[in-house]
Parts: sequence; C-alpha cells; structure tokens
Amino acid sequence: MADYDYDLLTIGAGSGGVRASRLAGGFGARVAVVEGSRIGGTCVMRGCVPKKLLVYGAQYANDLEDMIGYGWSMGGVAFDWPSLITAKNRELDRLEGVYRTMLRNGNVALLEGRARFLDAHSVDIDGKTVTADKILIAVGGWPQMPVIPGIEHAITSNEALDLMVMPERLTIVGGGFIAVEFASIFNALGVDVSVVIRKDKILRGFDADIRDTLTEELVRRGITIVPGTVINRIDKRPGGGYRLIRTPGEAIDTDLVMYATGRAPNTAGLGLEAAGVKVAASGAVIVDEWNRTTVDTIYAIGDVTDRIALTPVAINEAIAFAHTVFNDTPRVMDYENVASAVFSQPPVGTVGLTEEQARARGPVRIFRTRFRAMKHVLAGRDEKTMMKLVVDARTDRVLGCHMVGADAPEIIQGLAVALKCGATKAQFDATIGIHPTAAEEFVTMRDPVPEPVFAQPAD
Ligand code: NDP
Repeated sequence: MADYDYDLLTIGAGSGGVRASRLAGGFGARVAVVEGSRIGGTCVMRGCVPKKLLVYGAQYANDLEDMIGYGWSMGGVAFDWPSLITAKNRELDRLEGVYRTMLRNGNVALLEGRARFLDAHSVDIDGKTVTADKILIAVGGWPQMPVIPGIEHAITSNEALDLMVMPERLTIVGGGFIAVEFASIFNALGVDVSVVIRKDKILRGFDADIRDTLTEELVRRGITIVPGTVINRIDKRPGGGYRLIRTPGEAIDTDLVMYATGRAPNTAGLGLEAAGVKVAASGAVIVDEWNRTTVDTIYAIGDVTDRIALTPVAINEAIAFAHTVFNDTPRVMDYENVASAVFSQPPVGTVGLTEEQARARGPVRIFRTRFRAMKHVLAGRDEKTMMKLVVDARTDRVLGCHMVGADAPEIIQGLAVALKCGATKAQFDATIGIHPTAAEEFVTMRDPVPEPVFAQPAD
C-alpha cells in the first residue's frame, strides 16, 4: 500500500460519516473526517433533531387546548418563540460536543475545513493536501429551490429552524416531509400557514389514505392547502412581506416564504471529476450495493447517493461499509420495509408497500379503520385517526402498515419488526391487543374493505 496519511478519509461529519469513521477506527484503521460546517450534519444540526424539538414545543399548544376538557384551567399561559429557539440551540451545542467527544474517543482525527478532491487519493482541505487509501463521501444533501425571479427572498428549512421572529403569515411551497412538518409546527404556534403544491395532493409516494387523511386534518387545523399552483415570481412588497405571483389565480400576499421543494446531493465544489467519481443526472453519486462509487477506492453513503434519504438508512449504510471494507465481513444494506414517519400534527407512520404499489404486484386485501381516539373525546377535538393494513391476498402476508394519528411513528416502529419478520394477517389477528390503546386497532381489524369496482372496458 502506498504511504497515505490515513487509511480512511471521510468527507462529511454527519450521522453516516461519523458512524463509518468511528467503526473503521475501532477496526484498527487510521481515520480522519473532514467537516466544513457543524459536526453532526443535517440530522443533528439542521434536520431531524432541531425539527423534533420544535415539534415538541408546538405540541403543547394542542395539549393546552385539550386539557380544558379534562377539567384543567390555567390563566396567563404564554409562549415565547425566542426562548424555544434558544433552548433548542443550547441542545444542539451540547450534541455537537458529544459528537466531538465520540470522534476523539474513537481515534478519529477531525479536520475542519472544506474538502475538494485533487485525485482519487488526495483531497485539498482549505489549502492543505491530505491523502488516504480509501475515501468515503458522506456530504449529505442541501435544500434545492427552483430558479425563479425573487427566489432569494425565500427561506428554506435551514433558516426556518433559526427564525428569531415568528411571522403572522407563512407560505410554504412544496408538499413533502419538510413542508408538512413545518406547516404543522407554525400552525400550532398560531401562524396563518398556507401550503402551495403544484399537483393535487401532498406527500407524493405515501399511501393515498395517508395523503387524504392528513390533508383533511391539516385543513381542519386551519392550514390552507393551495393545490395545482405554480409560483412564477416572488416580489418584495414595499410595506413589508412578499407577493407570490402564481399560475393560476390571484397573487398571494404573505409575510414569509419558505421553500421545501426537495433536497439535492451536496456535491457542489467537491471536485468529483478530479477523482473520476461519476454522478447521475440528479447529481447523486452513483454507487453499487457495496457503497462503492465508479472509482474502486472511493465509497459514498447517505443522502449524497439519493437512495432513501433517512438518517437510520445512512447509519446502516455506514455500518455495512465499515464492516465490508475494514472488518473483512461483507454486508449490504437491506432497503426492504424501511419504516418512516412524518412529524406533522397529527403525525404519520408508515412501513412497507402502499396499496397502489401492492396492487401492482397482485391481489390484495385492504383493512382500514378511521376513528376518533379516546383522548380526543373529552377534549372535544374532532380529529380522526386512520390505520390501514395492506395484505397479500395469496400469501396472507402483511405488506404495508399505514397510520395517521397520535403516536403513529412510535406505533409503526413496532409493526416494522413484524413486517421484517414476514408476519401474516393471521398472526396480526392472533396478537392480543393492549386495551385501551389506539394501537390495538392494528390487531383487531377483521373485515376487509370491499374491493373497488374498476371500470370494465366496453365490449
Ligand atoms: P420531498 O422530496 O419529500 O418533497 C418535495 C416536495 O416539493 C414535493 O411535494 C414536490 O412536489 C415539491 N416540489 C419539488 N420541486 C418543486 C418545484 N420546482 N416547484 C414546486 N414544488 C416542487 O422533499 P423534502 O424537502 O420535504 O424532504 C427531503 C427529504 O428529506 C425527504 O424525501 C425525506 O427523505 C427527508 N426527510 C425526512 C423526514 C422524516 O423522516 N421525518 C423529515 C424531513 C425530511 P411533487 O409532489 O409535485 O413532486
């Protein structure tokens, strides 16, 4: 082996990069990780963690509404947004410290700066050349926005997490995970929120019953969903705020515009061409099942590869990479039945196939229930919980579990184990429920919904 500075150089100290580096270090490799921003990456610094803290903060607004029905009253309750942001930032500082300590304890050198490939084994870090036998690209993704006049006036989730003043009116463009989660946070805190989507429904890729149920519930909570609308231009208004020029329809006036129109692989300025690493049309680094790029000694994991953009997936890719390359125990990541959640209010949890995906594979039986959760009755909250099982009609295997309602992410995590084990509907039925819970409905649904009658072609 040539005389390199390190056995492994990881670019990006996010969840995937840190896990891969620590594991490789533990397997005896000489490892360094480069980071040009805060240690912890998107999930810890600009995504899952700060977002979830704001979700928790916003949920108290619901609790305060609901508690009256349970006999509580409390005068003089006030919410202070800057206090929540300050507390959230304090926690991020703590977590960054934890990550730094983990790297130190894992014998991973931290090189702070921006990395740019010079060739397949060399990287420039702010003017200093560092070499490594293997290089792991774990630079994640970055919000992407369409190029339209005035787009510079829009914020992304990055800035939304750090607003010091809450707007009265917020318009969010996009209808994916991030749009729906932030719409819920700001709506609960009293902001007048509109969500503008170019198609007819939010949450593309999710089961139709999730999309419809969540839409109903968001609207019930006062969020305006504006479907079939394209924003052509954003004008700054002289008196403050912004005017969104759209097709079709009248302009929308708002105090703040947030774009949540997807995230793109964060490869700008990384010099991938110099190393010979190929990217797809989307900009994602192309990898094989072993996380190996088009260059033998360069690997990539996480959002930069555009497989499933979720932290636990990146972490599992990191584990597979480290074991394969530094522990002589080859592993590939299994992308089947990866559960996910949307931390909207109410939240969504899902694992496995949507009804549409399952029907494309063969006959199915669908079990679905909608009900008002017990907790909401005394609270007077008119919110429906939706649970759904998609079952293979030939094998009885449960192919998908979907839920909108309180604690959906917590409930679906457990069901994900059952799906991973190949559970059948009969085994769900043989499972005794915990009463009274919402979750017990998943094991007590007995009657499939009638099959839809599809139009027959005329003779
Ligand atoms: P998503 O891909 O989930 O959604 C993007 C949204 O933007 C879609 O509604 C899409 O509409 C819309 N869109 C895309 N381009 C345009 C455009 N030019 N004009 C108008 N609308 C547009 O992206 P997010 O940014 O919400 O999230 C990125 C990823 O991060 C997610 O896919 C997820 O993997 C991850 N994430 C996970 C979370 C979790 O696990 N809870 C939370 C947040 C993010 P259309 O449907 O019409 O294509």
